[in-house]
Amino acid sequence: MAFSQEQLPELLLRYFRQQREIFGDGFVLSREKWEVLLHSLERGGPVPAGPIDPKKKAELLHQFYEQIKNCQRCPLGETRINFVFGVGDPDAKLMLIGEAPGKDEDEQGEPFVGRAGQLLNKILKAIQFEREEVYIANILKCRPPNNRDPLPDEVAQCEPYLHRQIEIIQPKLILALGRVAGQTLLKTKTSLANLRGRLHEYRGIPLIVTFHPAALLRNPQFKRPTWYDVQYARKVYDAIMAGRPPETISYPSP
Ligand code: SF4
Repeated sequence: MAFSQEQLPELLLRYFRQQREIFGDGFVLSREKWEVLLHSLERGGPVPAGPIDPKKKAELLHQFYEQIKNCQRCPLGETRINFVFGVGDPDAKLMLIGEAPGKDEDEQGEPFVGRAGQLLNKILKAIQFEREEVYIANILKCRPPNNRDPLPDEVAQCEPYLHRQIEIIQPKLILALGRVAGQTLLKTKTSLANLRGRLHEYRGIPLIVTFHPAALLRNPQFKRPTWYDVQYARKVYDAIMAGRPPETISYPSP
């Protein structure tokens, strides 16, 4: 049977799952090693260790997109109009992560394209970033009905895709947009108020949390604190890029 290189992880995954079902956990590998192997294949196999060439990153992201674009791992796959993978520079040093596509994003297949997206572009410009030089993605790739919060099972199914994108892009700083993104990435129930204004870490990458642009449209009083957050993010980013420890950057005083 002929198959493309992109299909290989999926075929291997299917084969190993069948074998494990027939012969049980003890088949060839220990239970722990099975978990590592299946998790790696679910995400498309291992990515190269160490720094990845920017052209290779674009290629890997494209391959990964092709591999998961028809995903039906959770019920949102049935109700989506478009699968919303992510957009931006595959070699971006700053990655922005929201919670899930909304109506406009579902219709257009791109994250942050509606009014909230336009506001996000303005916020980026205010701290001297163009939309094209960052990478923007969501935790979920498909729209939850009526824009409700993602369910734990949807996050469990979809978050490995985001991990893989992060592994390929290798950002130096992540900006989480909104409570749901912050709480989900940091695996915490801490309020947005307590997550903002300090440096966190997500899988070894510095992470800052701020408001979701849609929240700013509904609550203009959040714009000023957001301005402090993004100024802080810019300073942290500059420190990282200059090889200085980001922990030494203090949050701007209101
Ligand atoms: S939300 Fe994620 S896991 Fe669910 S169908 Fe879409 S891509 Fe697949």
